[in-house]
Amino acid sequence: MKVRLASNLQSDSIVDGDGIRTVIWFQGCKHHCKECQNPETWNFDGGMEVDIEDIKEQLKKLKYQTGITLSGGDPFFQASAAAEIAKFAHSIGLNVWTYTGFTYDEIINANDEKMELLKNTDVLVDGRFEIDKKSLACKFRGSTNQRVIDVKKSLEEGGVVTIYD
Ligand code: SF4
Repeated sequence: MKVRLASNLQSDSIVDGDGIRTVIWFQGCKHHCKECQNPETWNFDGGMEVDIEDIKEQLKKLKYQTGITLSGGDPFFQASAAAEIAKFAHSIGLNVWTYTGFTYDEIINANDEKMELLKNTDVLVDGRFEIDKKSLACKFRGSTNQRVIDVKKSLEEGGVVTIYD
């Protein structure tokens, strides 16, 4: 299976989730938030096509990483490919954070592919970036409407359980 990425994998990030993380930047986003920091990732024909097997090989070689972060762009526009990467990351002991412009509720009410990615995500940072709600005080997110969600607990309890308020 192929996936369209905006750039190469980026290791050793400490700002894209808890711990030391390798970020996978997905290409393509339809949310078009005002003052998005990565508008070059919107075009679904941009970036580069990468074989998922190549990504798995790169993940296997990682050292000292807490997990991977799926970001972009929006990984939920390539949910099947993102879910496969997330499953593989778990199989080698890496946790998975996923950033999306969709809200948790939009994902829950969407299709099987998006649910598959949600179920293989440990922490979801959800919602569009809203410039009038921008706050530098928000941990791991850009605006106060976005939430850092414990996915397992949320699915078990049938409602959003956040990690940082
Ligand atoms: S969801 Fe993210 S990548 Fe997409 S437009 Fe909004 S801020 Fe930009």
